[in-house]
Amino acid sequence: MNYNSLCENISVNEQGHLTFAGQDVVILAKEYSTPLYLMDEARIRSNCRVYTNTLRECFGENALPLYASKAASFAKMYSIVSEEGFGTDVVSSGELYTALLAGIDAKNIFFHSNNKTDADIAYGIDKGVGHFVVDNVEELDAINEIALSKGVRQGVLLRLTPGIDPHTYAAVATGKVDSKFGSAIETGQAKSIAAYALTLKGIKLEGFHCHVGSQVFDADVYMRSAEIMLSFFKQMKDEYGYETEIFDMGGGFGVRYVQSDPYIDIAESIRITANFVKAKALELGIKLPLICMEPGRSIVADAGMTVYTAGTVKKITGYKNYVSIDGSMADNPRYALYGSKYTVIHAGRALDECNFECSLVGRCCESGDIIQENIMLPDGIKRGDVIAVATTGAYNYSMSSNYNRLTRPPVVMLSNGTSYVAVKRESLEDIVRNDVL
Ligand SMILES: *Cc1c(COP(=O)(O)O)cnc(C)c1O
Repeated sequence: MNYNSLCENISVNEQGHLTFAGQDVVILAKEYSTPLYLMDEARIRSNCRVYTNTLRECFGENALPLYASKAASFAKMYSIVSEEGFGTDVVSSGELYTALLAGIDAKNIFFHSNNKTDADIAYGIDKGVGHFVVDNVEELDAINEIALSKGVRQGVLLRLTPGIDPHTYAAVATGKVDSKFGSAIETGQAKSIAAYALTLKGIKLEGFHCHVGSQVFDADVYMRSAEIMLSFFKQMKDEYGYETEIFDMGGGFGVRYVQSDPYIDIAESIRITANFVKAKALELGIKLPLICMEPGRSIVADAGMTVYTAGTVKKITGYKNYVSIDGSMADNPRYALYGSKYTVIHAGRALDECNFECSLVGRCCESGDIIQENIMLPDGIKRGDVIAVATTGAYNYSMSSNYNRLTRPPVVMLSNGTSYVAVKRESLEDIVRNDVL
């Protein structure tokens, strides 16, 4: 298999070993031990630059890319994206705390989530978070009250659902009318919440947000949702004299997990969407708002790889073969959660023919603890072999748990031919840190 065609940071060296960001994965496994998350810093930065450069080319200074940090949230990630000119999305006090720890300017933080607690709201306002993205009217009331009690007028965007079906997995589709997220334009709910927001003294309505889903490969989805959103802005202008200052178009561009996944040219999709948005705003006679996009997955997914050591290889003759690894659904729950596909590679025999059909399973006490089913690995794979799973930079570390009291793997950044620890491996002491005897 030509791994390079999955992502250009994956290759094979003269020893037949897998390399990631130019470094030998077998050697990294030995140096840092497994399970291990690797991240390619240069790839994170170049993924960021696709957005910063294209948005600048299309909108000049009138655009701001935001990193949807739930995809991979740890202090170093916030500093990297901020150095690349990104603002940040957070969805909890925990993500906000981490972003602030990394020195992110609170003015460039957008606080999402479909159910912020009063404590989240108070903490965000105290820290000077620039923008809350408000999901519903109860939340708007709560923010208004807390802001008033603190003598603040809080900047907010309202999350709207344009009623688009992005043709992605149900679990990650968010822009439909019946979604748990946002207020629907179609039902008139969006207009009534916007009109109401304009009457609140603790609220400064800055604009609107929509996010139609994730793992989207079709620029048409963004154009269809932008068309509905911009027509809504026009209505707000005509009926309330309200001019939208910020239009946050959401994230969701897809990435390739396996070689059969489609390829998407993100820069070109942004250009097509931008041209459409500019033309539509002109046609409707509305001012072009500041344009935000908030990618998560497409910034970090292909910048990540997880490395494991194989344990038991179980052959159930006539049925199925299992290769167990020293990781599990605790470090990668995505197959268990929604059947996500991944490319699995024998790191020490990356050029060998793969003729052993098996399932790669974790060490948790759950039959559903599967990383990938029915894949092909080299025959003779055995205990101690190093196994890599590609494209794990998004929603792996950030979704990890301590199930079965497993310690979370470290995140090791690869950069300029060297490596450094961005998140330490959890210790057994970490596991009991909050236990009270
Ligand atoms: C998850 C999420 C994103 C990022 O989606 P990706 O598919 O990771 O790009 C952006 N905006 C919102 C509101 C989200 O919930």
